[in-house]
Formats: sequence, C-alpha cells, structure tokens
Amino acid sequence: MRRQYLDVKARHPDAVVLFRMGDFYETFDDDARVAARDLEIVLTQRDMGGGVKVPLAGIPYHALDSYLARLIKKGHRVAICEQTSEPDGRRLVDREVVRVVTPGTVVEPALLEESANSYLAAVAMDGNRAGIAYVDVTTGEFAATETPAEWVGAELARLAPREVLLAADATAPPAVDAERAPYLLTRRSASAFAPEAARRMLLDHFGAVTLEAFGLDGAPLATAAAGAVADYLGDTHKAALGLLHGLRVYSTDSFMALDPQTRRNLELFEGGRRGERAHSLLGVLDATKTPMGARLLRRWIGEPLLDAGALEQRLDAVEWLKESGSRRSRVERCLAQVSDVERALHRMGAGAAPPREVAALRRALEQAPPLREVIAEAGDWLAWLWDGLDPCAEAVGLIAAALADEPQGEPGQGGVIRQGFSRELDELRGASTDARAYIAGLEKRERERSGIPSLKVGYNKVFGYYLEVTNPHLARVPDDYIRRQTLTNGERFYTPELKEYESRVLNARERMEELEGALYRQLCRQVAGMAEAITRTAQAMAAVDALTSLAEAAARYGYVRPALDDGGAIEVRGGRHPVVERLLAAGEFVPNDLALSRDERQVLVVTGPNMAGKSTYLRQAALIVLLAQVGSFVPADSARIGLVDRIFTRVGLQDDLGAGQSTFMVEMVETAGILHQATGRSLVVLDEIGRGTSTYDGLSIAQAVAEHVHNDPRLGCRTLFATHYHELTELAARLPRVHNCSVAVAEQGGDVVFLHRIAPGGADRSYGVHVAQLAGMPRPVLQRAWELLAAHEGERGAGAGQGVAQRRGAPQAASVQLGMFGAPHPSPVVEELLALDLNAVSPIEALNRLYALQALARNADGPSDANLPNDATP
Ligand code: ATP
Repeated sequence: MRRQYLDVKARHPDAVVLFRMGDFYETFDDDARVAARDLEIVLTQRDMGGGVKVPLAGIPYHALDSYLARLIKKGHRVAICEQTSEPDGRRLVDREVVRVVTPGTVVEPALLEESANSYLAAVAMDGNRAGIAYVDVTTGEFAATETPAEWVGAELARLAPREVLLAADATAPPAVDAERAPYLLTRRSASAFAPEAARRMLLDHFGAVTLEAFGLDGAPLATAAAGAVADYLGDTHKAALGLLHGLRVYSTDSFMALDPQTRRNLELFEGGRRGERAHSLLGVLDATKTPMGARLLRRWIGEPLLDAGALEQRLDAVEWLKESGSRRSRVERCLAQVSDVERALHRMGAGAAPPREVAALRRALEQAPPLREVIAEAGDWLAWLWDGLDPCAEAVGLIAAALADEPQGEPGQGGVIRQGFSRELDELRGASTDARAYIAGLEKRERERSGIPSLKVGYNKVFGYYLEVTNPHLARVPDDYIRRQTLTNGERFYTPELKEYESRVLNARERMEELEGALYRQLCRQVAGMAEAITRTAQAMAAVDALTSLAEAAARYGYVRPALDDGGAIEVRGGRHPVVERLLAAGEFVPNDLALSRDERQVLVVTGPNMAGKSTYLRQAALIVLLAQVGSFVPADSARIGLVDRIFTRVGLQDDLGAGQSTFMVEMVETAGILHQATGRSLVVLDEIGRGTSTYDGLSIAQAVAEHVHNDPRLGCRTLFATHYHELTELAARLPRVHNCSVAVAEQGGDVVFLHRIAPGGADRSYGVHVAQLAGMPRPVLQRAWELLAAHEGERGAGAGQGVAQRRGAPQAASVQLGMFGAPHPSPVVEELLALDLNAVSPIEALNRLYALQALARNADGPSDANLPNDATP
C-alpha cells in the first residue's frame, strides 16, 4: 500500500493527496503535516512494516466537504484518491485519483461565493504581448483576449481569478507574483501553452474545423491561453471541460483598466481597516435581489466603460427606474423569486442539479413575462433591456409538465416527477402504494386470523418482509406460515401471499427508481439543451437587477445623473464620498466642488492639515468619475464628466513586506508606473507622494513628479495631488495649469475645528502635533513635540523654506505651526533684517551685512550674534 501511495503521490507532487482507506481519507508524510496544521487535526504515525513509520493524519470520509473547503481556502490543491475496487480481504484494493480539486475548478456550492464569479485564468506571455483566457466552471463562461503585457496586472485584477495558470518557462509578469497574488499560481508545462497544440485542442473540443468563428484567428496568444485552460480542465475536472460550449473573444479596449492598487485604494469591493464589504463602494450600491445580479453589479463596478453610448443606455434605465418607487418595488418583487439560474443550469448540464433547483429555475423563468411587462411600460427606448427577457416558454412548459410543483426527495423515490406525466410511472407508484397498503393491513388481519395479539409485520434488507411471532405463541402459528429466520425469543415467517406482495413492492420500487431517475435526467438534459436562450434571459434579469440596484441607491442617497462628454473637463458641484457619507450621521458630510480640465486646471495641489479630509476629497473625485463610467448616478448636486480612459491612484503609505519591498520602494514603483502609463485622458490621484523617505528627498521627488505631469506633452492627465509639503503650493505661481486648493479649518479657543470644506489657495500648516493630541498621545510626548516643533519652525523661519509663504502674502505667523498655541520665536535673521535702515548703509556695508546674515542663516543655532554686524569681512 505504501508503494501504491507513493505512486499516486509521484503523479500529483504539488497536491495534497487524500488517500481513501475505508471510512477515512488519510494523508501521509509532508501532506500529513500540512493537513494537521491547516485542518487542526491530530498528526500521528503509521507503521508501514519493516520498521518504517510515517506521519499520518486522517479525516472521516463523510466530512470531506468541510475539510476540502478549508484546504482550498488555504490555497492548496487537493487530489482525491478513491478506492475503485471492492475490498475482498485478500488483495490490495485498486485506488485512483478521481478528481483534482483546485481553487479555480471547484463547483461545490459550499466552496463558492454566491455573489462573485469563480474564475480560473491562464496567461500566455510572449515578449511585450500577452494572451489571457478565463473560465467560470460554475456557469460555463469561457473567454479570451490579447493585450499588451503591461495590462496583464490590471486585467487579472479585474477578473480576480482564484487560480492562474502560467507556463513553466514563462517569467511571471510583475503582477503575477505568487507571493502577493491572492490567487493560486499553477505552473503548467510549456507545451500546454504552445499555440499550435492549443489550436488543435480547441478545435477538437468544439468539434470545429476552424477557430475563425470564435474570433481566435490571428490571435495566437489568446488561443494559447484558452488551450491551456482547456488542457488543465482535462486533467483536473473533465466533466467541467465537457460543459464548455463556446468561447468569447473580447477586447480590453472597451473598458477602463484599473490596476490592483487603484481597486484597493478606492475600496471598490472591500473597505475600512478590516476590508469589509459594507464599507466598500459595492457595499453601498448593492441592493440586488439575485446572485446573478450581484455578480453583474460587481463586475460593472470593476470594469467601467469608455463608450458614452453604452453608458447613456445604462443611465437611461437607471433614471427611469429611479423615477418611481412603485416601479422599482414591482421589479424587485419579481426578482425576489429569481434563483441562481446560471449555476443551476450548469449543474443540470452536469447531471448534478437537485430537483428543487430545477423547480426554482422554472419559478425564476416565470418571472420573465411580468418583469418584461413592467419595463416595457417605458416604451421602445428601453427595448434593449426588456427585449432580452424571453419567457423561455418551452423550457418552462417542459419543467411544468414533468416536475412536481414541490418535488420531494431524490429522483427515484417517487416524489419528483409530476402525477400524470408518465402513465407507467403512475402505475408503478399505484402498485407500490397498493402493495404497501396491503402489507400494512396484513398485521391486523393475521392477528385476528391466528389469535396472536403480539404478531408483527416487519422488513429488513436481507430477508425482506416477514411475520414475527414470539416463542410463547409459536404453537398458534397457522399452517401456511413458512419459517424464514430463528431469533432467540421468537421466529420469523412468510406466507406465499406476503412473498408475492413483497416482490410487487420491490419490483415497483426498483422500476420506479429506474424510470423516475431516467425521466428526471431526460428533463435536465432537455432543459440544459436550451441553455442559450435561458442564459440570455438570465443575463437580462441580471442586468435589470443591477440597474434597479443602482436606481435604488440613487433614490435612497440622492444621487444625480452625470452629464458625459468627450471634453477634457471634470466639473462636480456638491460632490460627496459615497461610502464616507454613509458612515456619518445624516447631514454631517460636507459636500465639495471640483473643477479640473486638461487645458486650464490640469493639476490641483490639495493641501491642508492632517485629518482635514484631503484623502476623502481625492478618492471622492475618483469614485464620482468611476461611478459615472459604470453608468450609475453619482453623489453630487451636479456633475459633468469628460470621459476618462484610466484612473490611477497612489494613496498613502503602504507596506508590502510580503513581497520583500520597502514602503518607499512600493511607492516609487507605483508612481513610476503611473508616469509611464497615464495618457492625456487619464485621471491621476496622488496622495502624499514622497512621504516614505527623508524630507528633502521626498519634497524633491514630489515636486519633480508634479512638474513632469504638468510639462510632459505626452501626459496632460488631470491630476489631484494631495501633499503636506507646503512648498509645493509655490508651483501654482510658476506653472499655468497648476492650481492650489486647501481644506479649511477654523480655530476656536485654541482648538482646531475641521470644516472639511475645500477652498482655493494653499494651506501652510499641518496641525500634525494637534492631531497627535487628539489621538491621546501621552502629555510629556506632546509637550516635547511642541517644543521641538517650535525649534524646527524657528530654524525653517531662518532658512530658505519660509520665503514661499511670505512672498505669496500669507500672514507671517501662519507659516509657523506653533502659532495657535504660543508665541513664535522670532528669527534672529529676520530681526536683524528688520532692524536694518537701508537708507543709512553704504553698498559695501550692505554686502558685508548680507554675508553675515547668510552665515547666520546657515548656522542658526551657532554662537550667532558675535558675528554681527561689522566684524564680518568679505
Ligand atoms: P491625513 O493628512 O492625516 O491623511 P486627510 O486630510 O487625508 O488626513 P481624511 O483621511 O480624508 O483626511 O479624512 C479624515 C476624516 O475626516 C474622515 O475619516 C472623515 O470622517 C472626515 N471627513 C473627511 N472629509 C469629510 C467631509 N467632506 N465631510 C465630513 N467629514 C469628512
């Protein structure tokens, strides 16, 4: 057996092998250690004979599903090795791996999330081009594309696959990094990615002679990736491969590419410190009623569109649905009856759908006509939406005719197929019921006939039906009783009559099992054969659901329809952050305007104290644009959006220690990526660039980035730049398309009041120490911080940095952070300068004094006054 195990393991070296032994699945060696750790089960040892002991950990067979779920969640691949021959006690039973379960190929409902697709993707790389293919084995969706290699990261971020296939010899593109990726990276042999082999594999699978119909001609990398997916399914989950009926080739050009960090920064699907869905954009917008609608809405948010026409269509529908609450509730009432049609249909194709799922499918399809009726009231302009709601009358008819309204039990037990659908089945049911009724009445009749009050009729699997009589009454047993079995305290008998009824019951049951099972399978096959039409209806329902959800959010939270155009401007009045405003009490969120344009207000430098709301303002701008390009209404009083091709964000200080990169390195890598990839149509949001290094390095980088964004004619991207480097507010004076704004605060009795209002002009204080105070920092630390700050500000006042604020007419005290808590230390240089009577000094003396002042400024802490004024020599 050890040898058998080692053979199996050698064929699945990268999977945890669950080796069936009787009532257990056992794991051995390293697998046992992994299983013990990740499943929290006991690690023991097994004697393998010859003094060899190996680690062992096992799980009971009936608990497979829940343990499997845990292994998959931990990112393992699991090979399930079953016993494939009956144990006869003499020779080793045969064993075979029946399925390899991987994160990308699970179909078990317990392992799936209802409201998100479960994708398996493959990436074929060739120089600076890449092919990407993906499949959802729970719905049969199969698609492929070709893109420039640098888009792979964004595309994978959009799909969020659970598993990614990559050729053994391919260098992982930067985003496909096993350590960082939330998916399992699976290496496959290079031959699985060879375009020619892939082409043959796909032709063979689809039974086609050319791939032209799929749009794969002239797309060797997309073909290679699709072939790799099919090849992998062939190895891991053949049944799923059999259910892929088509392949869609798509172009990434039609939607906005969002890189992984932008998705994260904008908290599209998970937000807040703990990454909760409720604190994400999706959490706020999702009022969908069906799993398909939930999946579609999630998808829309992750792939904003670039085409105004398609967006206006969605906006029209949202507007019409938003207009009337009763309209929405009529739609929602229908949708509440709609189950997961896509996945049910797929399971029917696989012969794995339970009868109640098929009944639910019928109820779902029956909602198509009433839904269509409601939406058709809008008229022809929404025909694109209601037209897809085909009632699928044929499928509904089939199910209604064949399936009981409330099917009971498994097919074969008699409660699944409707009475009246099959005469033969009804007869069998009748025969079985009659025979059972006869046997049920037998006990009473035989007690009366024999005079034995304790006589019982029973049934067991080995002997069938019997009449049981206890020892004291054996003398009274009638003559026609035939002995069947002797017990300690009695005997069991049968009669020829009982035997006959027994065989009637058993025959009927057996035939019924066969017939009802066959009828049910046939029904599933027939309905699955109409998958195309049903899927179209399901997709239309999903669209209605997603649009209604957007309308619901718009109505609930007071969103407006954005005006879209191809100009380079973004103008928002009274904009709000969709998630932050939900977390605050009503009326607490302070709306703000935004004006950006390619030609005049290209770069907006946002300054303001800590905690004022800079990050919120930046993200809100990006989210409003994103929502508009999802086809949603937006949280604002009005919005005009010049369509954006990509949104880039670089937000906050983020560590990526897992990937072995320092905070600052990550920041620079991401910023470099933005500068390389942004175009004149992009929206760039930079929050605190250059904060991860020393002040002067950081400031220099931040300024150089801002200047580059403004000056490089290739870029011209609309940019929001939040910073604590007040020096950057100076740029507005030099660069025509740079403008300043700041978040206003008020001071009341020594306290700072955050107004969260954006105003023109730069800010010159950070109130960082004040925020530390609000955060409850120990008093001695705070006191020391105030002291140090005063000293530093004093230095800065004497140095070069101060000039900016003063030249621009800011009040002098404002340049000193301590201003609101104590008198600023006047700088000796400034004092000296102010004391100078310029009318009374000669040119040479002026020069001398200038030297002295400079020396003083260079060494503000030094033994300053001694150098002043006259004994300084040129
Ligand atoms: P830091 O510089 O410290 O990163 P910040 O200026 O980026 O701070 P945010 O993180 O955007 O500040 O905002 C801090 C908090 O202020 C938010 O969590 C939110 O509760 C509140 N806030 C921000 N903007 C608004 C607003 N417009 N109206 C009401 N509250 C707001």
